Amino acid sequence: MTNFVFIAPPAAGKGTQSKMLVEKYGYEHVSTGDLLREEIAKKTELGMQINEVISAGKLVNDELVLKMLKAKLESIISDNKSFIIDGFPRTFNQAKLLEEVLASLNKEDYKVIYMDLDYEEAKNRVLGRLMCLNCGKSYNDKITSLMPKVEGKCDSCGALLEKRSDDTEETFKVRFDTFIENTKPIIEFYNSNNKLINIDANKSAEDIFKNIETYVTEVK
Ligand SMILES: [Zn+2]
Repeated sequence: MTNFVFIAPPAAGKGTQSKMLVEKYGYEHVSTGDLLREEIAKKTELGMQINEVISAGKLVNDELVLKMLKAKLESIISDNKSFIIDGFPRTFNQAKLLEEVLASLNKEDYKVIYMDLDYEEAKNRVLGRLMCLNCGKSYNDKITSLMPKVEGKCDSCGALLEKRSDDTEETFKVRFDTFIENTKPIIEFYNSNNKLINIDANKSAEDIFKNIETYVTEVK
């Protein structure tokens, strides 16, 4: 199966799509954030080093993240499984380094899924998010198909719904714009080496998945 790198703005549904690929096709989901947390939890020497850096409010350097990522990918490859890389690369330099690592593992035939989401849609998904305090069911008061039947109340159990986002429109805009700005050079890089797959993430999770699925077996 095709190995994927996932890049997506906030609220594009990257987590949902990763989960669907894992469940239906047996992909291994590799999140660099999770790898860092696991290493810290294991209290290895490397883990303590990482913990120090994070505790000081600094970013873990690329070399370290790559080292962990490479070890994880090697174990996945030796199990004959395919992978989704999530949360990496975030910079152009990281994209170049990842390219080198994947080439060294003979996996240069990966594809990059960019989940393309309009600002308005992202804003509505995030700022309208509601959750039932009792049963955990999700709603959205800015997206018609996801609104509760009675305002502020859960359709299933009638309990009160709670806002799930701390974002204001201004903070969300900064978050979204920063993502787009930082991602632009990465997207151009992957576009120029024919790795990029542009997915319309404004659609429903099912439709997005159908689109992504067409690329699962494209390579090998
Ligand atoms: Zn409920």
